[in-house]
Amino acid sequence: MWMGKTALITGVTGQDGAYLSRFLLERGYRVVGGQRRSSSLNTSRLSCLGVADDIEIVDIDLVEHANVMRTIEDVQPDEIYNLAAQSFVGASYEQPVYTADVDALGVTRILEAIRVINPKIRFYQASSSEMFGPARAAVQDEQSPFQPRSPYGIAKLYAHWITLSYRETWGVHACSGILFNHESPLRGRHFVTRKITSELAMLKHGRREAMTLGNIDARRDWGFAGDYVEGMWRMLQAETAGSYVLATGQARSVREFAQVAAQHLGFDLVWQGAGLDERGVDRKTNRTLIKIDPKFYRPADTHTLVGSPARAEDELGWRRKLSFEDMVGAMAIADDKQARDFAPAF
Ligand code: NDP
Ligand code: GDP
Repeated sequence: MWMGKTALITGVTGQDGAYLSRFLLERGYRVVGGQRRSSSLNTSRLSCLGVADDIEIVDIDLVEHANVMRTIEDVQPDEIYNLAAQSFVGASYEQPVYTADVDALGVTRILEAIRVINPKIRFYQASSSEMFGPARAAVQDEQSPFQPRSPYGIAKLYAHWITLSYRETWGVHACSGILFNHESPLRGRHFVTRKITSELAMLKHGRREAMTLGNIDARRDWGFAGDYVEGMWRMLQAETAGSYVLATGQARSVREFAQVAAQHLGFDLVWQGAGLDERGVDRKTNRTLIKIDPKFYRPADTHTLVGSPARAEDELGWRRKLSFEDMVGAMAIADDKQARDFAPAF
C-alpha cells in the first residue's frame, strides 16, 4: 500500500501538467494524471520531460460530474491540482458556453466531489491574471479589483470565487493561484510567445514565409512555467489556504518578446511602418519576418497585465529563478532544433 502523498493533476497533458508532474515526482509523490479522452496519444509533453511512464493516467473530463466523482473516489488523492481548462482567451470568444462549462462549473464539480468524498483533500485552482481585465492599477495583487472582459476571464473568476466559497463555507484547504502568463518550450503554439518562437524558427529554416501577429503593443508579465508549478505546490503545503499572485513584476510587449526571440534565432529585427502596414524586418537581409493581421486582434483585449508576487514571496518563500531573456532563449533554441530537424515534438 502507498504510504506517501498522492496528487491528482487534472489537465496533466498541458504545459503546467508536465512541469508539475516532474516537480511532484522528484518529491516522492505518487502522481495520477487526469486526461480527457482523445482519439490520439496526447502525452508528448510528459514524454518530453521524461515522466510519461512514471505517472498513472486516468480519464477525467470536467464536464462530466459522475466521472469527476468516481475518479476522485478511486484515486483517493491527498492533493488535487486543477489545471484542466479551455485555456485560450482567444478561443473563449468563439466557445463561451463550453469555456464556462469547463473553466467555471468544472471547478464546482471537483469541489463538490471533495466535499462529499473527503473534505481533507487539499485543492489548487489555476486562476488567471485575465480575471483583472483592463486593470486600473499599474500592478495587480491579491487586493486588486477584478473586471474581466473575456469569457475566459469571467469563467475563471467564477472558479476563483467558488474556490473561496468552499474554503470559507466548508473548510476545504482550497487555494487560488492567480498566475500571470507563464511560458516554456512546452507552451501551446497558439499562445503568442510560442507562436513567435516556433514560427520564426520555421522561417529561419525555410519552412514558412513571414508570420502574422495581432496587437503587438499588448504587454504581459511573462514568467517561466517550471518556476510557477513550485508556487502551486507551496500553496498547498501552507498551513492555511489562501489566494496568491505568482508573477515576475515586469511587463514586456509582444514587440519586445519578438525582438528577443529573433535575436536568439540569429535575426536582427527592426520595425518599419505603422498600423496594419507595420512590419518586422531582418536588418541584415531586409527580409520581412512579421506582418500584422487584424484577424488576430481580439474583440476586447487586455492591454497590459503586471503582477506583484510580494505576498507569495513573503508567505510562501516562493522565488522565480529563470530570467525573461533566458526563458525566451530556451524557447527559441528548442524551436530552432525542432524546425531544423523537422521534428515537431508537440
Ligand atoms: P494548457 O492549455 O497547456 O493545458 C490545459 C489542459 O486542460 C490540457 O491538458 C487539456 O487537455 C485539459 N482540458 C481541457 N479541457 C478539459 C476538460 N473538459 N476536461 C479535462 N481536461 C481538459 O494550459 P496550461 O498548462 O498552460 O495552464 C494550466 C492551467 O493554468 C489552465 O487552467 C490555464 O487556464 C491556467 N492558467 C495558465 C496560465 C499560463 O500562462 N499558462 C496563466 C494563468 C492561468 P488536452 O490536452 O486534451 O487539450
Ligand atoms: P493571454 O494573455 O492568455 O491571452 O495569452 P496570449 O499569448 O494568447 O496573448 C497575449 C497577448 O498577445 C494578447 O494581448 C494578444 O492580443 C496578443 N497577441 C498579439 N498577436 C497575437 C497572436 O497572433 N496570437 C495570440 N495568441 N496573441 C496575440
